[in-house]
Amino acid sequence: MSKIDALKKNQSTYDVVVIGAGAAGFFCAGNIAENRPDLSVAILEKSNKILSKVLVSGGGRCNVTHACFEPKELVQFYPRGKRELLGPFTRFGPSDTISWFEDRGVALKVEDDGRMFPETDNSQTIANCLQHTAFSSGVQLLLNTEVVALDRKNDRFELTLRDGEKLHARFVVVAAGGYPKATQFAWLTAIGHHITEPVPSLFTFNIPGHRILELMGVSVPHATVTLPEHDIITQGPLLVTHWGLSGPAALKASSAGARKLSQCGYHCKVQVNWVNMASNTVVEKLLKAKRNNESWQSGPWQDIGLPKRLREFMLQESGVDRYQRWADVPDKVLESLATCITEYELEAKGKTTFKEEFVTCGGIDLKEVNMKTMESRFHPHLYFCGEILDIDAVTGGFNFQAAWTTAWHTAQAIISN
Ligand SMILES: Cc1cc2nc3c(=O)[nH]c(=O)nc-3n(C[C@H](O)[C@H](O)[C@H](O)COP(=O)(O)OP(=O)(O)OC[C@H]3O[C@@H](n4cnc5c(N)ncnc54)[C@H](O)[C@@H]3O)c2cc1C
Repeated sequence: MSKIDALKKNQSTYDVVVIGAGAAGFFCAGNIAENRPDLSVAILEKSNKILSKVLVSGGGRCNVTHACFEPKELVQFYPRGKRELLGPFTRFGPSDTISWFEDRGVALKVEDDGRMFPETDNSQTIANCLQHTAFSSGVQLLLNTEVVALDRKNDRFELTLRDGEKLHARFVVVAAGGYPKATQFAWLTAIGHHITEPVPSLFTFNIPGHRILELMGVSVPHATVTLPEHDIITQGPLLVTHWGLSGPAALKASSAGARKLSQCGYHCKVQVNWVNMASNTVVEKLLKAKRNNESWQSGPWQDIGLPKRLREFMLQESGVDRYQRWADVPDKVLESLATCITEYELEAKGKTTFKEEFVTCGGIDLKEVNMKTMESRFHPHLYFCGEILDIDAVTGGFNFQAAWTTAWHTAQAIISN
C-alpha cells in the first residue's frame, strides 16, 4: 500500500480540506496550518504533481507579483475582478506578498517593467518555500485524489473521490485552478453555484498569409493595438512572430477582449500604430525631413522610432519610390506613409496559446462569493480562491497576486473561525 493510500485509509476526516495543489491551494493551506496547529489540514490533488504551474511560470523564473502598490492602480490590470478585488488588495497586496516570502527567507527582486521574481531567478525557490511552509506545519498531501462531488451533510462536507472513496471536512477550500471547459465545473454547479463560461485569455493573434509575417522577429517598444470592432485599445511592446502578433500590447488586447474574441471565433480587424504617435505628428516629421531635403537613410526615423526592417516595409507598403529624392515625394504619399505607420490594418484569423503564460477568463461567479472572506454565499464554510474564480489579469505577475490575495483571505477566515 502506498503512503498516500495509507493516509487515505487512516484518516477520512479533516478539519480543512483544500482541493488543488497549486499556488492558491498551497498558500492557503500553509497559512492556515502555521496559525492553527490544532486543525488538521489536507491538500487533495487530482494529478501526481504539485505546484506544476508555479514551476513552469515566468519561463521557469516565476513572476510572483508586480511592483504596483496602489490597489486602485493594481485593479486596472484585471479585466475580470477589477471592482471586486479592490477591497481584498487593500488588505493583502503585492507588498504583503513580498513580506510573506521575505519572512520565509525568499527575497524578491523587481525588474524595470515592474515584474517581480525570486532573486534566484528560479521558480523552484518559490515552490520550495510554499511546500516547506505547508509541510513543516503539518499539512498532509494526497496525490492522485480527484474530488468529483461535494455534498453538505449536517455540519460537514462529504467529498466523493474519483475512486468512490469518501472524505469528510468541516471547511472546504476550492483552489482547483482555471477549468477550460464549462463541463469541468459540474461538481460545483451541482451544489448551486453558477459560472461565467470559461474562455481562454492571454493568447497571440494569428495573421495567416499576410506579408507582415516577413518581418518575423521585428519588435517595437511602444505600439498601440486597436480592435475597432470591439472598442479595445492597448499599448506596449509589440512583436511580429512567424504566425502573427505577440508581445505585451497583443496579449493585453487578448485579455481585454477574451470573451468577445471567443464569440467572433478570433476573427477580427486589428489596427496597429507602430510608434504610438498621432498620425499628424508623424506627417509633420516627414514633411520636415522633406523640407530639409534629408536622405532616406537618415530622415526622421530615429525620432519616429521605427526599426530598419519595419521602416523599409512601410515605405514599400505606402508606395514610396525609393529612387526618388525625399524632396520630390508628393505630400500625399508621405501622408499615406504616416497612415501606414499609425493605422496599419490587419485581419486576425485565429489565436495561438502564449506558452509563457495563459489563463482562463471565467469561473465561479463573484456575486456568489463574499470577497472579504472568499466564502460561498450559499454554503457556509465553503471557500473559493485562485483561478477557479472569475478573476484573471494581463501578464506581469498579476495572476499569481490574485491567487495569493484570495488564498490569504480564505486562510484568515478559517483561522479566525
Ligand atoms: C505556462 C504558464 C505560465 C504562467 N506564468 C505566470 C507568471 O509568471 N505569473 C503569474 O502571475 N501567473 C502566471 N501564470 C498564471 C498562473 O500560473 C495561474 O493563474 C495560477 O497558477 C493559478 O493558481 P491556482 O492555484 O488557482 O490554480 P492551479 O495552479 O491551476 O492549481 C490548481 C490545481 O488543482 C488541481 N485540481 C483541479 N481540479 C481538481 C479536483 N477536482 N480535485 C483535485 N485536484 C484538482 C489541478 O490539478 C491543479 O494542480 C502562468 C500560467 C501558465 C499556464
